[in-house]
Amino acid sequence: MSVIDQTDQADAAPTEAVRHQWTRPEAESIYNLPFSDLVLRAQSTHRSNFDPNTIEFASLLSIKTGGCPEDCGYCSQSARYDTGVGATRLLDQADVIAAAERAKDAGATRFCMAAAWRSPKDRELDRVCDMVAKVKGLGLETCVTLGMLTFEQAERLAAAGLDFYNHNVDTSPEFYDKIITTRTLQDRLDTLTHVRHAGISVCAGGIIGMGEGIEDRLGMLVLLANLPVHPESVPINLWNEVKGVPVADTAARPDPIEVARLVAVARILMPRAVVRLSAGRQYMTDELQALCFLAGANSIFIGDVLLTTKNPQRDRDESLLRRLGMSSKPG
Ligand code: SF4
Repeated sequence: MSVIDQTDQADAAPTEAVRHQWTRPEAESIYNLPFSDLVLRAQSTHRSNFDPNTIEFASLLSIKTGGCPEDCGYCSQSARYDTGVGATRLLDQADVIAAAERAKDAGATRFCMAAAWRSPKDRELDRVCDMVAKVKGLGLETCVTLGMLTFEQAERLAAAGLDFYNHNVDTSPEFYDKIITTRTLQDRLDTLTHVRHAGISVCAGGIIGMGEGIEDRLGMLVLLANLPVHPESVPINLWNEVKGVPVADTAARPDPIEVARLVAVARILMPRAVVRLSAGRQYMTDELQALCFLAGANSIFIGDVLLTTKNPQRDRDESLLRRLGMSSKPG
């Protein structure tokens, strides 16, 4: 085949329309494409929606750690498991603002604040709304994850200027109740609906490596892709290997090629979503991260710690982007 033929073929690679009626068999057949065909399709889709050489840097701060009454079987912050993570109070606003300023200086454009709650109480929500307004005043995009929300609570966060709300679906509908029993998947979808109706952008993804099958990972992506509006951000988390939680007995770290394939499917099913390599990036080699960027991932969390677990250090991230000719700033 001549060079011209090859170029023609690349130009002809399909890019995806935004759709909301994906089926599991469709997702499976995309996932199982020969790898180079899968990556070409994902990269073509990526290029038609994003600058392919720009990676978003987000920063995450735990503003209230541990002591959570929920039973998420993967989580070190559940009060039900003996993980050595103690409960803290909600951080003071001054400490949160100082952390946001440091994150901005380090190159973050989005600052995410996480609290280990089933759902926020009104007094707590008032304090978080104040934090959101102040962090936004620094010129950062704001995101919070506070557990389940009513529509009224979502409206209050929107009024404070919140840009994104994170609430993951975690896994497939079939695997869900093997991981969590204290809130249903429908509870989660209801919170996402409230957030969306309040005019806040949605960050929703899930976790892999908990013992689920590939069909569960794809089921999770199909669930997200069939929401009435795709999440603006889709975090793909590798389960953070913490001791003392039920998932520790079932977990299996995913094969790296499976991770790259899943990222590619996320990109194809949700062409305009920012796909973020989130928790568990410390288990990923530079080569796997590069492969995931090629497959359409375009955001990472920066910082040394993610909630209660490790994250690759900033100089490693900068070195990787430099070697790839990529940038954390819009080009
Ligand atoms: S609700 Fe959040 S903080 Fe609480 S146990 Fe589940 S994942 Fe952990």
